[in-house]
Amino acid sequence: MKRLVILGAGTGGTMMANHLYKKLEPEWKLTLLDQYPNHYYQPGFLFIPFGMYSEKDVVRPKRDFIPEGVEYVESTVDRIEPNTNQIRLESGATMSYDILIIATGSKSAPELTPGMLGEDWRKQIFDFYTIDGAIALHRALQDWNGGRLVIHLLELPVKCQVAPIEFTFLAEWWLTQHRLRERTELTYVTPLPRVSMKPSCSDTLEPVAKRKGITVVNGFKTERVDAPHHSIVSEEGKTVPYDLLVTIPIHTGDQAIARSGFGNRRHFVPTDPRTLQSKVNENVFVLGDATDVMTSKAGSVAHFESEVLTRNILHYIHGEPLEQSYDGHANCYIESGYNKAIFVDFGYDRQPAPEKYPLPHLGPLSGLEETHANHLGKLALRWIYWNVLLRGRKTSF
Ligand SMILES: Cc1cc2nc3c(=O)[nH]c(=O)nc-3n(C[C@H](O)[C@H](O)[C@H](O)COP(=O)(O)OP(=O)(O)OC[C@H]3O[C@@H](n4cnc5c(N)ncnc54)[C@H](O)[C@@H]3O)c2cc1C
Repeated sequence: MKRLVILGAGTGGTMMANHLYKKLEPEWKLTLLDQYPNHYYQPGFLFIPFGMYSEKDVVRPKRDFIPEGVEYVESTVDRIEPNTNQIRLESGATMSYDILIIATGSKSAPELTPGMLGEDWRKQIFDFYTIDGAIALHRALQDWNGGRLVIHLLELPVKCQVAPIEFTFLAEWWLTQHRLRERTELTYVTPLPRVSMKPSCSDTLEPVAKRKGITVVNGFKTERVDAPHHSIVSEEGKTVPYDLLVTIPIHTGDQAIARSGFGNRRHFVPTDPRTLQSKVNENVFVLGDATDVMTSKAGSVAHFESEVLTRNILHYIHGEPLEQSYDGHANCYIESGYNKAIFVDFGYDRQPAPEKYPLPHLGPLSGLEETHANHLGKLALRWIYWNVLLRGRKTSF
């Protein structure tokens, strides 16, 4: 019997298990490996600080999404040994594979910024990219009475690179609803020269930020947090003071990738951007946030990648050439507050455009336009995620 191991039962790994179990021949055993029992719908973290969702709205047991016949092992991986086709577990046990799919995601690493975890952490500095951070920030906003609220993007890549500006737009809406807007100075700090990496997206978002009275600080390359003076400090010595700092910490791949010795400087796995075969070994493939490919780190990316990767795994098994067909496809909704959102759809070489996108279940969505329908699409995505996308059900979404 041959063994295909999927490492990571988050968004991408679960989608792959659901695609592959129907397609692999009986001589293949499919194993899914993950360290934690719970699956979080991470896009929902955005809404928790504003009280729109709570933890129970974004969590389900991982096992609910694992098809029968797929072996599920709950264990932490210490490292991968591609030369011997083995995975070493923290328990000391080993697991061998014939094909490996790495889907270990990305995570916040606040410890990589000097001063971040100092005396202001979770007192005046919060993140919303983790469930604990999102819940703690919700509590902090309940006590907010005005002052300098700074949203702070340190570097790319991070998961869902539009979530920081979405948070800023939602904060402006929430502050207005709570009669706190006039007492709050709202600032968005980014290392990028514009609000987004994509010019057409910046052309849409920057006027929205201006209309909302948000101060945008571009090109701010953070060196450290000066907690005693409640400010962030750039490499050039510029400072931005805060009363409440909502930070998006540096992201890295998993430490297991670092220990395996084949990740890049942030522990992302070198990956062919078109085939999703790793550059580590020909029987090792990668999808989702764990790759180093130059598109977003997003659930939509894992979804589009999973379709190409499923075909490429089958090509690899049958000794056929791999498809070079992944084009960096990503899409997402950008909440802009007041029950509206903007929809963007793009790829490696394709800018977001003002088109109409016919989506199953949702009807036409307007690209680069603030509409109520786009907001409803964002809210519907949670149901679609649990019931369609994660289960690998066919959709052209
Ligand atoms: C605030 C926020 C908003 C977002 N909004 C959007 C959005 O609007 N649209 C969108 O498309 N995406 C959005 N995303 C991004 C999306 O959630 C992620 O890109 C996606 O979930 C990544 O999937 P993945 O499979 O690569 O990683 P994950 O889903 O994170 O899964 C990785 C899995 O690997 C496991 N793992 C890691 N290391 C080990 C180890 N050593 N041993 C065992 N198991 C291990 C983990 O336990 C985890 O289950 C958002 C994310 C956040 C945080």
